[in-house]
Amino acid sequence: MKYKIVNINESGERSVLIIYTGGTFGMVQDASGALAPFNFGKVVDRVPELKQLGIRLTVISFPKPIDSSNILLQDWKDMAYIIEENYAQYDAFVILHGTDTMAYSSSMLSYMLEGLNKPVIFTGAQMPIGSIRSDARENLITALEIASAHNDGQPIVSEVCVYFNYLLLRGSRSQKLRSSTFAAFESENYPVLAEAGIEIEFNYSALMPHNPKSKLKVKYDLDSNVSILKIFPGITEHVVRTILNDSSAKGFVMETFGSGNTMNFNWFLDCLKDAVNDGKTILNVSQCIGGEVHQGRYETSKRLNEIGVLSGGDITTEAAITKMMFLFGSKKEGEELDYLLTHSIVGEMDHVAG
Ligand code: ASP
Repeated sequence: MKYKIVNINESGERSVLIIYTGGTFGMVQDASGALAPFNFGKVVDRVPELKQLGIRLTVISFPKPIDSSNILLQDWKDMAYIIEENYAQYDAFVILHGTDTMAYSSSMLSYMLEGLNKPVIFTGAQMPIGSIRSDARENLITALEIASAHNDGQPIVSEVCVYFNYLLLRGSRSQKLRSSTFAAFESENYPVLAEAGIEIEFNYSALMPHNPKSKLKVKYDLDSNVSILKIFPGITEHVVRTILNDSSAKGFVMETFGSGNTMNFNWFLDCLKDAVNDGKTILNVSQCIGGEVHQGRYETSKRLNEIGVLSGGDITTEAAITKMMFLFGSKKEGEELDYLLTHSIVGEMDHVAG
């Protein structure tokens, strides 16, 4: 792949590589009035402050910036590869990304970048940088400030995060919750890592501790043979069986009600039992944005434990489905797979799912 590289500022104590993948951030209206991504060169013209931040800045751009609704596994590998290739040369990385699938990408990169000890901050915008009221400028500039923040040369942030609308969130905990306000992202089940006001207030006790000795090891093997079953009142046996019988899917994230409850009709439990007996993995996550799955709290979830459905605890659907792709890609199976799905590997869930 041919990347476009632009040096924006060559002097400064810290260095940050901006990876521009596309998204509303840099979009313009095409002839029909629809928004489509354009090249980053024009973005720099819109944010002249980038030259005054006192940070050494380089931009590397996807050859064809994309709307993040078109993100594929290969794009995650490309982002990870750019970070790996440039890891020694830069203190931090800021990924400009569409908001629609940012939580999936930030979750996946959290898993792929094993041993990360530098900041990788995803950001984007709800309005294109060319519009007068755009949130793009603030999001980018503060993301860069956070990425370059350090104490005695050690980065304050050493994990994959999302920065959006004054909040820094853990990447594997974040979710896009709103499409029409600037406050698009939250991490309901994990504290905010930093809040940007007049000062940037870091929440040190919630941040991943910096480990100067850890070595980056990028894991590129991913497997997209996974699926999601979202239950709803009135869902039919035909629909449930059709989804669970998909022979290519090795695992399912099952989005359930409240604290992990499902209907307890015999036909439904039989569908789940047949899938588990067939060697499929089912991970129970809640449709609620806050709180967690507690299999066994109610009669309607007790049977799930007996069947072998796994509890996803307080993990988000975004972090759960990407975790499955990652673990199947790493050829995990049996008890090890079950253990990893029900325990935190990068802070994406409370340490052990109940
Ligand atoms: N559709 C756009 C994208 O995700 C939306 C955005 O960037 O806000 O690329």
